[in-house]
Amino acid sequence: MKSKLFGSSGVRRIVNVDLTPILACRIGLAIATFSKAEKAVIARDTRVSGLMLENALVSGLLAAGVDVNCLRIVPTPALAYLTKRLGADVGVMITASHNPPEYNGLKIFNKDGIAYDERSQDKIEKIIENEHYVLADWHKIHETSYINEDQIYIEMIEKAAKLDKKWHVVVDAGCGATYNFAPMIFNRLGCKVTAINAQPDGLFPARSPEPNRESLNSLAQIVQKLKADIGIAYDGDGDRTAFIDEKGNFVNFDRILAAYAAHIVKKGEFMVTNVETSMCVEKMVEKHGGKVIRTKVGDVYIAEAIKKHKAVFGGEPCGAWIHPQFHYCPDGILSSVMLLKVLEKENLDLSEFIAKTPKYETLRTNIACKNEMKHKVVEKLGEDLKTAFPVYKEYSSIDGVRLAFEDGWILARASGTEPLVRLTVEGESLKVAKEIMKKGVRLLKKIIGETKD
Ligand code: MG
Repeated sequence: MKSKLFGSSGVRRIVNVDLTPILACRIGLAIATFSKAEKAVIARDTRVSGLMLENALVSGLLAAGVDVNCLRIVPTPALAYLTKRLGADVGVMITASHNPPEYNGLKIFNKDGIAYDERSQDKIEKIIENEHYVLADWHKIHETSYINEDQIYIEMIEKAAKLDKKWHVVVDAGCGATYNFAPMIFNRLGCKVTAINAQPDGLFPARSPEPNRESLNSLAQIVQKLKADIGIAYDGDGDRTAFIDEKGNFVNFDRILAAYAAHIVKKGEFMVTNVETSMCVEKMVEKHGGKVIRTKVGDVYIAEAIKKHKAVFGGEPCGAWIHPQFHYCPDGILSSVMLLKVLEKENLDLSEFIAKTPKYETLRTNIACKNEMKHKVVEKLGEDLKTAFPVYKEYSSIDGVRLAFEDGWILARASGTEPLVRLTVEGESLKVAKEIMKKGVRLLKKIIGETKD
């Protein structure tokens, strides 16, 4: 089976191994052919290969007669927001998000600043496969413009949440695309800012571009040493954010999402999250009269569902939060500023704010399963789980199979790239989680043993 070029977050590959400038040029041609764009906005994160890929992508777009505007290095949400605000037909971000430095990728946004869905990406892939590019007449080829419209994006965030308290914020851009935007915005909001890893460096020498407990160890120590109010970190392209509380503790992604969502969602309103998120989100949101909608994993699905259900908020437990009243791209800086505003309103420290959110136990395991079989096996597992747990509350097959109970849930998904089935279980206690997992693994192994490829 030929591997697909586009995943749920666009193209993401190792540079000059399977993402070459030749491919980037073809993608540029295919985007122009598919979208019939007259105007495109392009940006990149701080990766070493960014400029090389940008030049190739722009070449493809220019060859198809597109008027190309380059923003240089800006966060992904800034590119998405400016695509709409500047009236472009398409926006392309050159980034591999939180992946290691040898990776790069391309994420495409439509004129509304929403990431391309699977259907559009498949059409682009088809154009590349068939080499059906529409090239412009030689006299219709434009020049590239390098523009700076940062101000439009910065003003949107400044207006979103005016802060009254002089917060001491330690900002960790991780040498990624938020390196200048984030410290500048917090300064303009009147915060006392300590910025670390605030130099653009595509080798990401300070920490992994993926913010997590491990990679934010230094940030946590600095917050504690300086007695700062909060530590805020971003991933390589600035659509995700992670927090350190005032005591220097890493803040659990699911619990902060649940606490924040519970504050935002009012009675009768919807919030959207993916199938992997902790059930603490339901516990918190439903307590306030709101309802949780679950989607496949990937911010494009969250954005689509927000639009469809007119939800007021959406987020994934990797720290990608969407505020649809501003735009439909997850936005790390916007999310962190909005969180500060909520803490201010509630007059709480971050550790107090999440204290009311229940803590559950999560277990994960991978079971080997041939690629040809894995989807069939997961489907069968769904049926067998329903028999094994007759008291289940909810069953869903939107992304793998997921069975929810009063005190926990189990999710089985076929790995996108490896010969594995991934099982995730959550329980109110470790005992409950272990019991669910034990049953799940036993059923799964039995099905794998019985299934012929
Ligand atoms: Mg990202």
